[in-house]
Amino acid sequence: MSPTRVLVLNSGSSSVKYQLLDMRDSSRLAVGLVERIGEQTSRLKHTPAGGESRERGAAIADHDAALKAVAEELAKDGLGLDSPELAAIGHRVVHGGKFFTEPTVIDDAVLAEIERLIPVAPLHNPANLTGIRTAQALRPDLPQVAVFDTAFHTTMPESAARYAIDVKTADEHRIRRYGFHGTSHAYVSRATAELLGKDPSETNVIVLHLGNGASASAVRGGRCVDTSMGLTPLEGLVMGTRSGDMDPAVIFHLMRVGGMSADEIDTLLNKKSGLIGLCGDNDMREIRRRVDEGDEQAELAFDIYIHRLKKYIGAYYAVLGRVDAVAFTAGVGENAAPVRAAALAGLEELGLAVDGERNAVRGEEARLISPEGARVAVAVVPTDEELEIATQTYALVIGSGNHT
Ligand code: AMP
Repeated sequence: MSPTRVLVLNSGSSSVKYQLLDMRDSSRLAVGLVERIGEQTSRLKHTPAGGESRERGAAIADHDAALKAVAEELAKDGLGLDSPELAAIGHRVVHGGKFFTEPTVIDDAVLAEIERLIPVAPLHNPANLTGIRTAQALRPDLPQVAVFDTAFHTTMPESAARYAIDVKTADEHRIRRYGFHGTSHAYVSRATAELLGKDPSETNVIVLHLGNGASASAVRGGRCVDTSMGLTPLEGLVMGTRSGDMDPAVIFHLMRVGGMSADEIDTLLNKKSGLIGLCGDNDMREIRRRVDEGDEQAELAFDIYIHRLKKYIGAYYAVLGRVDAVAFTAGVGENAAPVRAAALAGLEELGLAVDGERNAVRGEEARLISPEGARVAVAVVPTDEELEIATQTYALVIGSGNHT
């Protein structure tokens, strides 16, 4: 019998998130997180399915030690990484550039290309590479698959993917709009079509992935035709700590008049802007609490957030021409009913509306929040990037007979 388990690894610069799934029923066998790798205060939290969480507090020096500790915890539950049941390891890789359009079995050439992309993803790709190399050392015989955040967006037409700057300069420095959160946009657009009982290839969806990072995408017949993030995740919507769209001349102004360095501006726009820059909070729960108490600063931050979101909904409506559904996902999209209501308020002429009662219902399942008989469906669709990575990894490995 073919092996049925897939380990999903999401390696950050000082953290590793992992899930072990059984692909027979897409169930989680274990989930966990290693944080603060390389510090004295490292922490591993491991939760087996149906069991109690276990924590380790000892220092974990590097990714190699982290993955070995994860393997030990899994082994305690009879889920060791040496098991013949393990079919593959699926890695989240943030930047796959223009050429990785699909999940890819990792070999030396793939590793070299991910490395070549470091200049456009200096924070993420080195950490992803470390995770891959560590996992390869642990199970050299096992297929390792890279699932790229950018892949779903490689179907964007040039008219959406190119910035209107000098073509030679853009090509020399690989400057174009790549988009991110692609695994989530792929999963949610497909799940939305399924919720409507329609074939994804015949369904047009605007996906609003609203987490601490946030992005919108326009998906026509299962293929992305536009998305709000660009060369980096900084472009587009107002986010928890990122500014999203602004006049690029703000940067020259801050350099020339404000005397700030490129790195300082990078930190300002990525870490100290968006909701946190506007009102000091980036958690939508806290912002809503403050709004309810009449806090004007929080209210203005909320209004700016909604204004930008509404502009993208209108833009992607125009890009698609016909919209079957608008889907809200991720931390804010799945939980913040006031955000969903405000984003679509006044758009009835476009066939868009939110039913107050349906919007107020909380739940884990994909659900409709538009009124009965609405021209355009509005849905809340919980995202599941790990399941999508596992599904793509498994399909590639088992489909190709490339398993051990
Ligand atoms: P994510 O990046 O998808 O994990 O989303 C994290 C963000 O979701 C947090 O920063 C909060 O702003 C938001 N969030 C999580 N739970 C809630 C909730 N119950 N109500 C409103 N916002 C929430």
